[in-house]
Amino acid sequence: MKSGKHRSHSPSVQAGHAPRKRFGQNFLVDTGIITSIVLAIDPRPQDLLVEIGPGLGALTEPLMARVDHLHVVEIDRDLIARLKQRHGRDRLTIHEGDALAFDFGSLGNRLRVAGNLPYNISTPLLFHLASFAEQIWDMHFMLQKEVVERMVAEPGDGAYGRLSVMLQYRFYLEWLIDVPPESFDPPPKVQSAVVRLMPKPVEELRAHSQECLSRVVTAAFSQRRKMLRNTLKDLFSDGELEQLNIPLTSRAEELPLERFVDLANLLHQRTPPVTAGT
Ligand code: SAM
Repeated sequence: MKSGKHRSHSPSVQAGHAPRKRFGQNFLVDTGIITSIVLAIDPRPQDLLVEIGPGLGALTEPLMARVDHLHVVEIDRDLIARLKQRHGRDRLTIHEGDALAFDFGSLGNRLRVAGNLPYNISTPLLFHLASFAEQIWDMHFMLQKEVVERMVAEPGDGAYGRLSVMLQYRFYLEWLIDVPPESFDPPPKVQSAVVRLMPKPVEELRAHSQECLSRVVTAAFSQRRKMLRNTLKDLFSDGELEQLNIPLTSRAEELPLERFVDLANLLHQRTPPVTAGT
């Protein structure tokens, strides 16, 4: 496929659909990349697979060729109408609406999730999906490369932040494929990448309360360059930080995941349990 200015008619125009920016519509047109993504997912006929944002079907159709039944979640009514025209309900279930509000848990267990995600909502969508981690088998997503950098970043990297800590706590992450703008129509202004997320076994999760972990991480990164003794002063005393071997001069961007978990557990330990009637 020729790319960029040499393309006289873009595939989405040929398909009669004007891409909607507000829905992050950059359609995949690079058959090599599409094949690599499907190979990475390696769908099996009986898999419970859900695709977020099927769009014009670039991934949907090769996925449907491999599974007995596919679920999709799509917000754009025009695209939903097209999908309905092309595929029968016996092979495809279309969940119409916003993936950010969709109850992925309602589909069942051992859920496989995939998609070329709308970049404008990718971070909240990743947090939303993480809340269903116990029911998820794996996830494969195309994302803005900068988001993947943040997901896999380690302490000391400039990209290390709340997204890195919260996702690395719950998932093993694997950066799979780099994807240039020309692989899409229209081409996005940014580089992209495909990443795999696999939930960690529950036995490996050390935080007694994910809510406490989220509170600590959010507070710590609210001002990432400030010292933790300042950003966390409402939650922990200097003595408590020292007790956990966290130097008083350290900053959130340097703190490894394990120390965040220690802090969350300390917070949980002294958070009074909610009792009925309070
Ligand atoms: N999968 C197609 C492809 O690879 O060519 C389309 C990918 S496009 C980047 C993102 C898709 O997500 C579009 O179909 C868009 O309409 C859909 N979408 C955008 N926001 C959504 C939302 N909040 N919930 C569900 N789908 C959404």
